[in-house]
Amino acid sequence: MSKMPVLFVGHGSPMNAIEDNDYSRTWRNIAERIPKPDVILSVSAHWYTKGTRIMSEEKPKTIHDFYGFPRKLYEVIYDAPGSPQMAKVVKELISRETVYDNSWGIDHGTWSILVHMYPDRDVPVFQVSIDADAPPEEHYKIGKELRTLREQGVLIFASGNVVHNLRLVDWHQINKGFDWAYEFDDYICDNILNRNHEKILKYNELGDIAKLAVPTPDHFYPLLYTLGASDENDKVSVHNKACELGSLTMTAYLWEQ
Ligand code: ZN
Repeated sequence: MSKMPVLFVGHGSPMNAIEDNDYSRTWRNIAERIPKPDVILSVSAHWYTKGTRIMSEEKPKTIHDFYGFPRKLYEVIYDAPGSPQMAKVVKELISRETVYDNSWGIDHGTWSILVHMYPDRDVPVFQVSIDADAPPEEHYKIGKELRTLREQGVLIFASGNVVHNLRLVDWHQINKGFDWAYEFDDYICDNILNRNHEKILKYNELGDIAKLAVPTPDHFYPLLYTLGASDENDKVSVHNKACELGSLTMTAYLWEQ
């Protein structure tokens, strides 16, 4: 079997789940262009926990982990099956201590994208959490340990935002960003294209720009799993490279053999 691609997506507003826009159309196009996975392993910014947790349910529930959005968004159910078998494989591949945890479910970081990519809900999906206390190198290492799943029909999928500062969101900046948002997003993009992962892991060395772009690392860390799962032979393509509301970037990366 050929190697599955690896995909990082900037998810932005939960409203993207029910909107037909440039971002959601791109996600649909990506799904049409890549081989259909047997299973999707998702690392979502919104499952940010103590330690690394693995979802192992047969039928994971859909979580609506946001407040104050239109009712239509709460009615979205992403009832794809889970994959207890692949959860077990993942538990064995990750060298650090992990636990099974089914207290969470498929959150909007995952389903707001997958409703567009796999609307038939026929591809099993499960999530692996992000250990909030682990340093960047550790998330990258877990990604590396998961790399062999690509030969087993698994799409390693991560959902966050490279630049994500909700405190500085500016509702007047539709489809636009602050200078520092573009600067940080470009820096990460250049280092992804040049496979200079060390610079990405040490993003804090950028100082003030990094503090503005990544005030908390929950939306940035998912990227590190996909970087780790990618390899030298992958071709990387960049999608949805845009800013929203001043302080969010939507950039997505696809690594393919
Ligand atoms: Zn989010």
